[in-house]
Amino acid sequence: MLKLTNKRILENFFKKPILDTSEKEKYIPQLKELGCEKVAEGEVFSFLQQYVSQYIHEKEFRNALYDYLAKQNGALGLHDVKNLSIFPLKNEQGTEYVPYSDEIYLMPAVSETNIDIAQYQILDTSIMSASLADAILGEYIRIQTLSQEVLDAREQEQRINLIESLDGHDDSKRLEEVAKYLLDDFKKGKLNPSIIKRGLQGILKKIPMLMRSGEYRREGKFIAGHLTTRGSLLKRIVVGDEFLAFAHFLEMYPVSSIHYDNLVLIDKVSDEDIKDLSQLDNYEDIIRRLIREGYISEEQLQKFKLEFLVDTQDSFESKEEFPEECVVNYGKIQKHIKELWSKDKNRYIEKKVTRWEPEHAFEEKVYVNTMYRSKEHHGAYFCQMCGKVFPGKYIECDQIEREPVYAWKQMHLNLCLECSKDFKSMRANDDFYEKFLRNLEDLDIIISTERGFFDISMDSEKTIRFTAKHLAEVREILKRQKQEGKGRRLRRVNNKRP
Ligand SMILES: [Zn+2]
Repeated sequence: MLKLTNKRILENFFKKPILDTSEKEKYIPQLKELGCEKVAEGEVFSFLQQYVSQYIHEKEFRNALYDYLAKQNGALGLHDVKNLSIFPLKNEQGTEYVPYSDEIYLMPAVSETNIDIAQYQILDTSIMSASLADAILGEYIRIQTLSQEVLDAREQEQRINLIESLDGHDDSKRLEEVAKYLLDDFKKGKLNPSIIKRGLQGILKKIPMLMRSGEYRREGKFIAGHLTTRGSLLKRIVVGDEFLAFAHFLEMYPVSSIHYDNLVLIDKVSDEDIKDLSQLDNYEDIIRRLIREGYISEEQLQKFKLEFLVDTQDSFESKEEFPEECVVNYGKIQKHIKELWSKDKNRYIEKKVTRWEPEHAFEEKVYVNTMYRSKEHHGAYFCQMCGKVFPGKYIECDQIEREPVYAWKQMHLNLCLECSKDFKSMRANDDFYEKFLRNLEDLDIIISTERGFFDISMDSEKTIRFTAKHLAEVREILKRQKQEGKGRRLRRVNNKRP
């Protein structure tokens, strides 16, 4: 037990006479036989809680107390120990004894003396050594040295709490405050340690920054890079100059790689916006969506030649209402269907069909796709019939011959969906088909470097445009096939070939 100088206080507290057994430990067994009780630990602790602040300044009491607590090995509740005002702090007036908190630090190492220690609570190790503090607090708590690292971690925690406190708020004043606070930390180099940088990168979507539009944003922020922003659309999501270095530091994405969903659409898209968007990697997809959602006007479609990105095929513009027909008598309909049911129903049955396929698989599209590729629009191609440019998914690759004998990449046409339909219906017609093949074979092509393409007519209106090279190859193939006796087969009615 503690060696206590004031027995009266003890006896008042425990309501019993107290024997001081220090330095008389060998008598303890006899004292027990005489009926003396050992004071229960819990009671000792209650006593300490009540009187500790009164006696802690007395060196003898204090040392005995520290010694007692250090020997408990966790037998006392940590929470109770932490709450005792026994931890000595250095301050201007002398020493102050306070309960434990994680705001108490050990003196920083000499190399880190640029830390303003006056701002922090420093354990007075001339009274309680670091190892003694560890012994009293047990193995799970350590008083940390006031190092730059510890301070950085503390500051980062506050920083992240501040950023997360913005969740659910769109008060621009608060966004601005936090954004400027972070920018200031960045400029002071406080964010340089990689652990701090990575921590912020992890919550990048929550960090507010000032955009070129003059607004503060948290989510969907990008770096302009070499791209210009004349319209307002990209300005909304591109970081302003003031925050640019900070944005680069956090390795934010360039705006060039954005998708439609990254845009912040408020009103119609301006001409300037379209010019801005044309610099993006996903330009066509973005424009296609903008057209579909009605952000782009007819005039803009024409002005910027964007018609080829319109999703739908041609249709009649009409103010006509969709057809209507109501049910006058439901019973009549039931009766009618019942009648149909009783008659002979036209059942689908299995039929065997012969399919013609080349012996070896081949990429039929490659040749014509490459030949008629648009240089201006990525993934788009010229239709050989109407001459317009279409996205790849609206381009068909059709066989020139109705019933080809061999598979040749060259023997295909690159046609848009509409022209493909037209071509196939003409190809099915013997008169058109024969005339077309004759034109292909007989046209007197003068191979020269002057003419890059030729138009071969199908009928009085429709022509098919070939590059001179494509046409020359088609002609040579047709010629050889004819020599082999495998040319044009026009009137084989049954067993239709592809
Ligand atoms: Zn076409």
